[in-house]
Amino acid sequence: MAAMSNQMPKLWLRKGRETPVLAGHPWVFSKGIEMGPVDEAGKPARVVGLVKVYGGSKEFLGIGMYNPNNSISLRMISINRNDEKDFKVDKDFFVKKFKGLESAKKEFLPVETTAYRLVNADADWLPGLIMDRYENVFVFQIHTAAMDMYREEIIDALKKAFKPEAIVERSDIDSRKADGLQSLPVKIHYGKVEGNVEFLENGVKFFADVLGGQKTGFFLDQRDSRKKVGELSRGKKVLNLFSYTGGFGLYAALNGAEKVTTIDSSEPALELAQENFRLNGIKIDDEKNFEKYDFVCADVFDFLSSINIGDYDLIVCDPPAFAKSNDKIDEAKKAYTSINRRCMDLLKSGGILVTCSCSGRITQEEFRDILKFSAGRSKKDMRVLSALTQPFDHTERVSFSEGRYLKTFVLQCLDHF
Ligand code: SAH
Repeated sequence: MAAMSNQMPKLWLRKGRETPVLAGHPWVFSKGIEMGPVDEAGKPARVVGLVKVYGGSKEFLGIGMYNPNNSISLRMISINRNDEKDFKVDKDFFVKKFKGLESAKKEFLPVETTAYRLVNADADWLPGLIMDRYENVFVFQIHTAAMDMYREEIIDALKKAFKPEAIVERSDIDSRKADGLQSLPVKIHYGKVEGNVEFLENGVKFFADVLGGQKTGFFLDQRDSRKKVGELSRGKKVLNLFSYTGGFGLYAALNGAEKVTTIDSSEPALELAQENFRLNGIKIDDEKNFEKYDFVCADVFDFLSSINIGDYDLIVCDPPAFAKSNDKIDEAKKAYTSINRRCMDLLKSGGILVTCSCSGRITQEEFRDILKFSAGRSKKDMRVLSALTQPFDHTERVSFSEGRYLKTFVLQCLDHF
């Protein structure tokens, strides 16, 4: 599979399109391409894969992964000028990348944290590849057709770079369709996975169901926000909406919350949430604690209709991405406005709302606007205590603002006076 850059097809961008690429933006849409790709003989090359990329003035810009079937046709894998003559994607390329990312990320990981995002796709210059690490279990997803050609190299590189206990692929994702690919069955490529994988996050113990859970098994991107919720929870009655495996509520319970109610519509997620509480020594099975630690399998919208104002002092609202495609943005904005308004309605003055949006198509400013409308309708004065985003291992580059997808606002609700 390794393709030397001297045999790579070439393509040229339209004039002006080189500026963002030079600044480090990894994407070029099909309309940004002036000519190509062509092969060595100058003939059209119908490739999905690596191409050498040149600017409007014919200068070499870097190497991209090309797929004409996606409107984002080109994703840059390197903008190193030296790569024009000698660039190869093979096992050694991935070993070097993985090692480099490991040391860059380990340096800043919080203490007692053994799971992180090793590779955050385009933002880490590995377009289409997501890799989460839980202790020594590596779980990856391939989103693009060009990266899909390097599965073997990726697996071999992981074996060489680390001492993996297991390597799992979770490319059971519909987003592959945008690149002309099918969703794939879950696969263990190496080692054994027996049951859930245990790891630490800020000293809290968790199980990830890497074979059957959502995404790669756990939402590692809420690490910082969960810690924040822990800090705010002492003596509070906490409601964790869209809990998945219970993370936010578990931090609250470990930090002295008076009560934690955990809600999700997924039965397996709630079962694992209970396992996670037990794993940390929280006595959810003692009869006297049934009310204190409550796990409810329900639709959040129905549940919210069944409770009263002031039942909870702190509400966490972390729904799935409502805006999954561009034509769904208006609908998604309405849904975010409505759910946040309902949460605000249920808080007494002084109550806290931790509210999140993981829709990449909605910016932080747009989300803030949504919250403004919710607050207006709820007639509440919402004060921003903090604004958080994905942690650093879910790499965000200044040149690639699209890489910021997670927005979390910690708001204090005050009555107007
Ligand atoms: N806060 C979680 C991640 C949330 S992911 C964490 O910290 O890990 C979104 C969750 O919302 C999923 O577990 C999904 O099962 C749940 N969900 C989606 N729609 C729902 C609904 N209408 N009511 C209840 N749960 C819902």
